Amino acid sequence: MKVSRSTASLIIALNAAAVVVVLVIVMQWPRHVVVPTEQPPAELEIRERIGLLAPDPDWSELEVYQETITREDFESLLTDVFSAGDTWKAAVRIGDSHADVDTQDGKGFRLRFATQPSVKPPMRYWRSASELPTVDGDSDRPLKGMRIAIDPGHIGGKWAQAEERWYSIEKGTEVMEGTMTLQVAKLLKPQLEKMGAQVFLTREQTEPVTNMRPADFEAAAADYLRSIGKNPQQDQRSLEFERDKMFYRTQEIRTRAWLVNDIYKPDLVLCLHFNAESWGNPHKPQFVDRNHLHLIVNGTYSLSEMRLHDQVFDMMQRILQRTHEEETAVSTAVAESMAEATELPAFRYGDNNAQQIGESEFVWARNLLANRLYDCPTVFLEPYVMNHREVHDRVRVGDYEGTRSIHGKRLKSIFREYADGVAEGVRAYYLRQRARK
Ligand SMILES: [Zn+2]
Repeated sequence: MKVSRSTASLIIALNAAAVVVVLVIVMQWPRHVVVPTEQPPAELEIRERIGLLAPDPDWSELEVYQETITREDFESLLTDVFSAGDTWKAAVRIGDSHADVDTQDGKGFRLRFATQPSVKPPMRYWRSASELPTVDGDSDRPLKGMRIAIDPGHIGGKWAQAEERWYSIEKGTEVMEGTMTLQVAKLLKPQLEKMGAQVFLTREQTEPVTNMRPADFEAAAADYLRSIGKNPQQDQRSLEFERDKMFYRTQEIRTRAWLVNDIYKPDLVLCLHFNAESWGNPHKPQFVDRNHLHLIVNGTYSLSEMRLHDQVFDMMQRILQRTHEEETAVSTAVAESMAEATELPAFRYGDNNAQQIGESEFVWARNLLANRLYDCPTVFLEPYVMNHREVHDRVRVGDYEGTRSIHGKRLKSIFREYADGVAEGVRAYYLRQRARK
């Protein structure tokens, strides 16, 4: 069949249009992702030395990192950053040319060291600031081409009481962490977009991301209680507690990690939280005088964590993908801008589960499910103590533009102060790193 020139150009135009339509769908589809409905049954089983609801690690995934890290770099990351004291010895043995790691099948994983430091970045989905294209030193789009995920911590709304992130001292005013983090996320998103980033939220409502519900974990929670020598039939309270925890902590965070790692694949995750000190009865909460700020990077695994194969696998992946260095550098920049925005003093941990890391007194290494499972640099924020009077009163006033007088100080809304502080730190870090030298 002979095709006239005008028909041919029409076909080309239609094809081009189809490409555009496909591109638009591809760029939009993460918003409409269908979350997998079921946790694979094997992962609901209680297994020895594998964490609750964790997949059995596939150690062959680490083969691509053979001979990519020197013994010196491996040892210093393992012992100085990821290990609380010498807990690493429970999982890893370091030789001259290789390290041996315990695995669930008993065969072990052997990592061969590189003799020279590698010049190219290791296999990973995210890009460090130095791998991103350069920008002008005075650019107002220093996040151009970046993918950033914001994870508003917890769920909030009607779930806030069950997840123990709720208190109320008067009718009509509820302090709910998961609702507040979402408010901050929604203020932060357009700021990052304006600077050129493509931004994803792990949730846009005060609803769980997982489709599973507490009842789905009833049998797994009973099995777990039996595994620690308790009788679930005689201890309904423990059963409900473990079941709910599997739902709103473990499964919810694992589902968000799946979104982040398999769908969004961002260069950076920002985990937003509000801190709190123990407040006792949520209907008659105790207030504290302390108000403070700190940020958390992944590290400082305890002995019991080092004994879990899935956690050691996650740690190995973070070591081999060189996540720590970038994570600490961005976190340090954001800590600086948050300290300036909030004027809060640094929080100090008093136990062995966290250690101060890098150059900022605000940045601590601690092993959390969220900052371990997100396979990219993760800035985990813990500003403001929710049961401090001033914080309560600022939450009660809600969001507003400009400043208002609260406790005799002219202050931005707590949500804007938080969002502005994060945006400024991210801006400053990427501009500094990406600016043409
Ligand atoms: Zn929190």
